[in-house]
Amino acid sequence: MLELRGITAGYDTGTVLRNVDLIVPDSSVVALIGPNGAGKTTLLRVASGLLKPTGGQIILDGVDVTGRPTEDLARRGICHVPEGRGVFPGLSVADNVRLQAPPQVDKRAMARAAEAFPRLGERATQLAGTMSGGEQQMLALAHTYVSDPSIVLLDEVSMGLAPKIVSEIFEFLEGLARSGKSLLLVEQYVARALEFADYVYILNRGRITFAGEPGELSESAVAESYLGAS
Ligand code: ATP
Repeated sequence: MLELRGITAGYDTGTVLRNVDLIVPDSSVVALIGPNGAGKTTLLRVASGLLKPTGGQIILDGVDVTGRPTEDLARRGICHVPEGRGVFPGLSVADNVRLQAPPQVDKRAMARAAEAFPRLGERATQLAGTMSGGEQQMLALAHTYVSDPSIVLLDEVSMGLAPKIVSEIFEFLEGLARSGKSLLLVEQYVARALEFADYVYILNRGRITFAGEPGELSESAVAESYLGAS
């Protein structure tokens, strides 16, 4: 279980997150939604150790991991698929997969990636930068299967992709969830995210304005948060 307690964080340009509490229980899907600039990406960066909070705690399976480096959190089971995919365009698919894989699965990494997305198996020698946007996203997502994490942080993984690819990606995510992994999902397709999620948080201007089950969320609350009402 991942717990963010009273998180305050930001950049030298100012504070973005203010006293944010969020829990990702074991084997559950949590959607984090909210308007542009609300701080969703910043929250995922805090959760994976990429950005150190200025206040609050990150508790992972009961252990306070606040301030630990991102490699440490990765070893403890957190896998972050960043916005913009983060693949190495000048390397082949197979080399990208190997780089993402922890040492113990290194040799089996490409086989596992192809199990997750057969299309990656067919394109193992292709340079990642020459693949379509959807294929690059599959490559980024293969990480979540190859490295066998317990908690997966997903930042707008369906962004800019054709509806057919988005469906394929959601099917993959549903498979991850069925296999017992916890997902924290930042997603622009709000309806789809709410359909999939067990719990939902709305973040607006750096504060949580709703936390609960999707069924408790009224359309007006969603609309209000997206129109930026405070
Ligand atoms: P979007 O839906 O548009 O991706 P978001 O909810 O993910 O938005 P963030 O990307 O977390 O929001 O940004 C929150 C605020 O922090 C914004 O005002 C943004 O300009 C600012 N910000 C983000 N990254 C940085 C950075 N590296 N340096 C300075 N300010 C930043």
